[in-house]
Amino acid sequence: MTNSAAEERASAPPAPHPETAPELAAAKAAAARKAFATWSRADVPQRVEALRRVWRELARRRSEAADVIFEETGKPRVEIEIVEFGAVSMLVDHFTQSARRLLEERPARVPWIMLNKRAAVRRRARGVVGIISPWNMPFLIPFGDAFCAMLAGNAVLLKPSEWTTKTALWLETAIAATGLLPEGLFSVVPGRGAAGERVVDAADLVLFTGSCATGKAVAARAAARLKPAILELGGKHPMIVLADAPLERAAAAAVWGGVANMGQVCVGVERVFVEGEIHDAFVEKVRARLSALRLTGPDAELGRFVFPPLLDRALAQLEDARKKGARVIGGEVLDRAGLRMAPALVLDARMDMAVMSEETFGPVIPIMKVARAEEAVALCNEGELGLAASVWSRDLQKAEALASALEAGMVGVNEPGSHYAFGSLPFGGVKSSGMWRRHGDEGLLMLTQAQSLIVHEWPLDMPDLWWFPYEKRKASLLARLIGLP
Ligand code: NDP
Repeated sequence: MTNSAAEERASAPPAPHPETAPELAAAKAAAARKAFATWSRADVPQRVEALRRVWRELARRRSEAADVIFEETGKPRVEIEIVEFGAVSMLVDHFTQSARRLLEERPARVPWIMLNKRAAVRRRARGVVGIISPWNMPFLIPFGDAFCAMLAGNAVLLKPSEWTTKTALWLETAIAATGLLPEGLFSVVPGRGAAGERVVDAADLVLFTGSCATGKAVAARAAARLKPAILELGGKHPMIVLADAPLERAAAAAVWGGVANMGQVCVGVERVFVEGEIHDAFVEKVRARLSALRLTGPDAELGRFVFPPLLDRALAQLEDARKKGARVIGGEVLDRAGLRMAPALVLDARMDMAVMSEETFGPVIPIMKVARAEEAVALCNEGELGLAASVWSRDLQKAEALASALEAGMVGVNEPGSHYAFGSLPFGGVKSSGMWRRHGDEGLLMLTQAQSLIVHEWPLDMPDLWWFPYEKRKASLLARLIGLP
């Protein structure tokens, strides 16, 4: 597609994709299981090599993928390149380097009275991993999760958001075209909730990213079928700015973290608490940076909402804040049909305003003045969401102590949240923000199951001492050997 054609389409959201017929979903699930049988027999270096080559090929063709992402989401091209593809590249790099250490058989410690046996832990793939993903990062989240799942030896059934199905279908076609993976190892099941439910039913493990409400429904369905579900849900990133914060970096982070990708980022800055002494200076710097943003033209730094209710939700939260006494700067609707609004700064924000307590997922930066950072920590910990949070201060020791007091799965000190790009860091939330983790050692291991192995090596023709027949003499000898007091 030419740039101008894609540009034109990106000005308004495309229509959602039609539902997958139940028979087609069942056929894809059966093909995934068949592919798993072949793929799970490949050893770890073979899987690493095949998947590394798959990524190389996708990366080579990424301008085609960028056109599709742009058409579906209207994101700035720079964000597509750096966030959607750049972060995947970093994940691929990390996990291809860690795969052998994490996934190959590892010896286990043997109790000394059993030194005639060998013990080891093996990692077995789960089978079919059902990935249900949102629309805000239509390449990064589904492919990042699928890559890890396949590296761990699984097949993947992906249910993308209905709003970004074309990106997922591009991935399916491009992966198949490499010819490097068994047919059906990675399949897409487009549709809405019903397609998601089919994926849950067909999978051995579910990896869900989306809203808290849908996450709970998915977890309940998976639990009823005794399947594990990893849940990555919503957030309300509090940025806590202390009086001695590096002001310029903090203000730039509030703006980038708050409005990049039109604020549609689960770890994005959703509210700012600022200590009184620097409140006015901080607000001025944020304001200046917001007004310097390019909102229109080919180099626009802000895109659009992906689908209509998101604009209405952001506007409703701004109206609620205004009614409760906040000063709202910006936030004008620039193009209702094209789902574009100017970023908004909400001053004199208070905790009883929706903008401070409910996920906005829009380019809105509410700022609340606090006497001390500890007050902000207490207010945040009272809430239900605990995905990402950050503390800003030149006193790194104090900032780290405050960060560890925050009930959040991911924290940053003078850092708004690049956790996703660190494959080494577990990514996920606490409380209503999620369950279990993706990434990090534990995230990759979650995509497998442990198989514990004991091999009795010698003497092969003798029973163990603790088997029948039971005798007092043997029992007291064993008790002494074990060290029972
Ligand atoms: P939704 O919960 O609306 O949807 C997520 C996915 O679930 C979509 O593919 C959706 O399909 C599907 N789905 C809907 N109903 C069901 C069902 N009954 N069974 C199975 N699947 C179903 O979330 P959004 O797409 O609106 O994503 C935004 C949310 O995601 C925000 O809250 C954001 O914070 C969170 N998020 C969390 C991240 C994290 O890692 N913690 C990262 C990114 C986003 P469809 O849309 O087609 O109906």
